[in-house]
Amino acid sequence: MTVLNRVAILGVTGSIGASTVDVVRRHPGRFRITGLSGWQQSSALGLLAAEFMPEMIATAPGHAGAVRVAGGLGLASSQILEGPDALIRVAQSHNVDTVVTGIVGAAGLPPTLAAVQAGKRVLVANKEPLVMMGSLLMEEARRTGACILPTDSEHNAVFQCLPLPLQQRLTGNAPAGSTTGIGSEISRITLTASGGPFLHTPAAALANVSATQALEHPNWKMGPKVSIDSATLMNKGLELIEACALFSIPESQVDIVIHPQSIVHSLVEFCDGSLIAQLASADMRIPIAHALAYPERINSGATSLSLTAVASLQFEEPDTERFPCLRLAREAARAGGSVPTILNAANEVAVSAFQEGKLGFMQIPQLIERVLDVLPGERVTSLEAVTHIDDKARQLAQHMLPSIVATGV
Ligand code: MG
Repeated sequence: MTVLNRVAILGVTGSIGASTVDVVRRHPGRFRITGLSGWQQSSALGLLAAEFMPEMIATAPGHAGAVRVAGGLGLASSQILEGPDALIRVAQSHNVDTVVTGIVGAAGLPPTLAAVQAGKRVLVANKEPLVMMGSLLMEEARRTGACILPTDSEHNAVFQCLPLPLQQRLTGNAPAGSTTGIGSEISRITLTASGGPFLHTPAAALANVSATQALEHPNWKMGPKVSIDSATLMNKGLELIEACALFSIPESQVDIVIHPQSIVHSLVEFCDGSLIAQLASADMRIPIAHALAYPERINSGATSLSLTAVASLQFEEPDTERFPCLRLAREAARAGGSVPTILNAANEVAVSAFQEGKLGFMQIPQLIERVLDVLPGERVTSLEAVTHIDDKARQLAQHMLPSIVATGV
């Protein structure tokens, strides 16, 4: 008999939240939603809460009333809490076994760490926690017995390609005394990138592309931040940093290849020369369903992949001249410590400015590089230190923004 898995979805009104809800709805006997969070979209949160009747709901300050009105009678027995601490309360609740983190940006850090510290099964679907404090999270997971399941599609694909003993080692279920990381059997991880909407756009034209064009991702339906990151290839850069943290592997053993069809989600090369890949349609419900039910398999609702309809799979080298974000992210992964946090913060400021039409597409990497040149890297040992560095990098990026805009490149 399947044990009921009590799930909290943080960021339920976003795209990861929507995919998770869809998977959960298909398996009412297996999952029960006991915690939900949404920030600004009170009515959407209220309606979802009325459907699932979670014990605890977290929302932005001043939004509880609107959530309760939208949820109506369905929320009679739900506790609705406001503010960042509410996210932590949900993540650590005794009524929650599994926490799905789909909160965009650095706001997802404290609840993710809280869930790991409470020893939960944690589906890390947002990038920031692993980029900004990956080694800290993995260390805490080893200490508390929390099980971190990679849910970004590429990292979930890598995880699926690993042999069971390695999966057990990574999820904290290995026999005592086992080493961490994926060890000497694995020689290389290859993350695939679709290349985004500007894969073959000439360098000269890239300077003038608009945010609307950048949002038109060819294969994946995602939130605006991730879509723009996919267009600059920073998304893959952040995933490189994530992979190093999750699998305890140096960046020199993580390759990135452009694969425009988004069918092969990633590959693992073994020391004997075998290459194992995970293939599926580009549908986030697949990694989410995998991580929710792991080690079992359940229906995700995704359509079956027709290889003959796909017909051909192409792979090419990424162009770091046209997409410098990839180079910057690799350098940050190599440097480690606080450097990925600085990269991520400067990127968030740059992407917002680009969305607002203030910054050109090719100025995004320029701003990030300037911030990285100025702020020195340091060791990070706590959430407070990470948050402080994040703040400092954002302020500096905002301060430098006008001078980059003025160059007009
Ligand atoms: Mg991804």
